[in-house]
Amino acid sequence: CGIVGYIGQNDTKDVLLNGLEKLEYRGYDSAGIAVLNDEGINLFKVKGRIAALRERVDNSVHATMGIGHTRWATHGVPSEDNAHPHRSTSGRFTLVHNGVIENFQEIKKEYLQDVNFVSETDTEVIVQLVEKLFAETGSTIEAFRKAMELLKGSYAIGLIDNEDEDTLYVSKNKSPLLVGLGDGFNVVASDAMATLKVTNQYVEIHDKEIVLVKRDGVELQKLDGTVVERSPYTAHIDA
Ligand code: GLU
Repeated sequence: CGIVGYIGQNDTKDVLLNGLEKLEYRGYDSAGIAVLNDEGINLFKVKGRIAALRERVDNSVHATMGIGHTRWATHGVPSEDNAHPHRSTSGRFTLVHNGVIENFQEIKKEYLQDVNFVSETDTEVIVQLVEKLFAETGSTIEAFRKAMELLKGSYAIGLIDNEDEDTLYVSKNKSPLLVGLGDGFNVVASDAMATLKVTNQYVEIHDKEIVLVKRDGVELQKLDGTVVERSPYTAHIDA
């Protein structure tokens, strides 16, 4: 299973699909990508191989930011409905997740009684929780932070807010995730292998940090909002 994300100047579909192919070795049963442009979110997912996802993706859609996912089902059968990315009820938030949310039932009961879930995954709880907290705070970063505070378990997460074409929201805990730095673009991936074609400069993300990934830079924060400074390193791997 794995995650990729891209925000930059060029069309993102190939970076995402090529990245997901590089993550195939980790195992998966389904895959999907979501890309955001002025028309909104375009979502493509399949049960099965990346090759099938490539067929499914509409080549006429152009977008300069997006997230992709290969799923290894832990909660809910392998199916198109359970494949990621998952969206919140209003459609405003779209999210990919690797890992397991241990307290997703508790979160459902405590915060999301009135939500109609369309998948059987633990993951959908995260994106619905972000939407709920956004309704309370009016701030995406605040909602994302609070959601991350409430989660117990392992996660690598990428989130898109439809109303913000300039930021990918990222966080992790006990699941791998890296930020890759480019010139006019930035990427995220579970594994450097997934993005070696586009960069060899990476920044580590530590557990329970949040990263705001923008076209011209990245900002790392702790959950309390404190800014974290961390130097990039060069990955020496033969792709
Ligand atoms: N627990 C999530 C699911 O079953 C994510 C699995 C994964 O890491 O791919 O959908």
